[in-house]
Amino acid sequence: MKGLAKRTANLGCRLGGFATVDELETQIQQIQEQEKALYRVISKIRASLDLNVIFQTTTKETCRLLQVERVAVYRFFDDWGGQFISDFEFAEPGWDNIDYPLGENTVWYDSYLQENQGGRYRNNETLVVSDVYNAGLSQCHIEILEQFHIRAYATAPIFVGNQLWGILAAYQHSEPLQWQDRQIKFLSQVAAQLGFAVKQAELLSDTQKKAEALQERNKQQSILFQVTSEIRESLDLDTLFKTTVRETRKALQVDRVALFEFDPDSNYTFGEFVAENVLPEYDSTMTEKIEDHCFGDQFATYYEQGRMQVVSNIYQAGLQPCHINILEKFQVQAQLVVPVLKREKLWGLLCIHQCREPREWQDTEIQFAKQLAAQFSVALDQAELLEQYRVQSKQLNETVAQLEQTNSQLEELTYQDTLTKTYNRRFFDYILDYEWKRGIRTRENLSLILFDLDYFKHYNDYYGHLAGDECLIKVAQTAKSVLKRATDLLSRYGGEEFAVILPETDSSGAIQIAQQIQKAIRQLEIPHAHEQLPFVTVSIGIASYVPEEGQSPKILIDYADRALYQAKSQGRNSWVKFC
Ligand code: GH3
Ligand code: MG
Ligand code: MG
Repeated sequence: MKGLAKRTANLGCRLGGFATVDELETQIQQIQEQEKALYRVISKIRASLDLNVIFQTTTKETCRLLQVERVAVYRFFDDWGGQFISDFEFAEPGWDNIDYPLGENTVWYDSYLQENQGGRYRNNETLVVSDVYNAGLSQCHIEILEQFHIRAYATAPIFVGNQLWGILAAYQHSEPLQWQDRQIKFLSQVAAQLGFAVKQAELLSDTQKKAEALQERNKQQSILFQVTSEIRESLDLDTLFKTTVRETRKALQVDRVALFEFDPDSNYTFGEFVAENVLPEYDSTMTEKIEDHCFGDQFATYYEQGRMQVVSNIYQAGLQPCHINILEKFQVQAQLVVPVLKREKLWGLLCIHQCREPREWQDTEIQFAKQLAAQFSVALDQAELLEQYRVQSKQLNETVAQLEQTNSQLEELTYQDTLTKTYNRRFFDYILDYEWKRGIRTRENLSLILFDLDYFKHYNDYYGHLAGDECLIKVAQTAKSVLKRATDLLSRYGGEEFAVILPETDSSGAIQIAQQIQKAIRQLEIPHAHEQLPFVTVSIGIASYVPEEGQSPKILIDYADRALYQAKSQGRNSWVKFC
């Protein structure tokens, strides 16, 4: 409005001297049209967020409205050189970009602007030249303008915030042009709007970049989550290694990922790659053991502190030749090396290699590798614990099995007579009681045989106690071999006296067994020292009884014992059944 007031004042001045009412009306109409045109251009500028579209629309509209041959947007570089980034050429076939390349991407270095850091444009001034040959321009300036066949021009600065960003320029090639105030005004108003548009676009692109970065981060976080859960699930070391290198390579899109493990006692001098995932065109690191004397001295301490190595280009990272040699062997051009700790000690390295070309590692990638290595370290500890647990539980199982065996042996021992390996008196008592009760229910006969070696004192006296023991063993084994039914039970009743429990066996059955035992022992023909008996024999007492409620099984022992006594009395080497 200020511009309009000024212009009206100018017009008023002319009205006083020369202007007619018609002329005044025409001019007011022109001004209104120009305001409308400006409004249209601004609306278009605001309708788009794409700078290219904005520049194209603006230069086109401005060119038409100003009725000039070319309008262009020129952008400053940091050194106040600059470039035409977009233009629109009014339809004059003679002024095409091929002959006079003042179009998009034309670089124009203007020493005045460079020396004066934007010169008068910095003061938001417009520059108007109606004829380059009558504007007092320097020869070199004229030469540049001639190159582009520029005869007249008007320029307005484009500010983005407080920064001089570029210039909106209108050119006339074919002839000089007497610029009118309204044209210049229009040009600078459009330039101001362009400044806002650029600012807006920059803000938008910033926001977009932030959103993209966030998205990228999210993507990597979700990959990390996926990878780490896969790593955590691989419980044996081999799977853990393979999963880690495979997933890391996939996630970072690198040429090789390898896991290096130090020989624990080599002071970080020796080690080998224990897992690798590599593109087929590059050599495998797994084929040889690595010996690196410079590593232990140079890097181990750093890595132990959790630091990682980020190398975008191995030749520009100040690496030692010995180190470069190793990397060259595997075509490495850029690498990320992250320490892997096990129980807080440096276990190895997660090596991420780019072989195709050097690579600028992104912050997100570095963080990714770091977090991944940390997860791997946890998994490594876990896998080790699991391995320990497995070994321990295997040992435990073995121990339990041994214990069970020992227990059953012990159990047997508690029921076994150590010398003859028959059941002992304790077990005899237990079984007799059991069978007695069962007999009460079944109403079946329960028989008991007691047999005792004849004149065994003599035997011992003559052959010695050890021989006596041997004799007892043989007698017991022989008697046992006679018994066929699973429920028949031989036990050492005491000293050289044995008992046989015969469940569900009546007198005649018991007599048969007694006779068989007696015969079998006699047939052993173990020489005896007694004058009446050349071989070892036994005397047998037999009792058979249907157990009765309210009675004790001792009655059966008593009967058998009495029968045995009788057998002894009647000359030994005989059997008696209690009646
Ligand atoms: P008999 O029964 O015919 O009347 O005469 P005996 O000599 O066998 O009878 P006695 O009960 O007097 O002697 C039993 C002997 O058995 C006493 C002991 O020397 C012997 N004896 C008992 N237990 C063992 C043992 O575990 N080992 C050995 N070597 N001898 C035993
Ligand atoms: Mg005896
Ligand atoms: Mg005896």
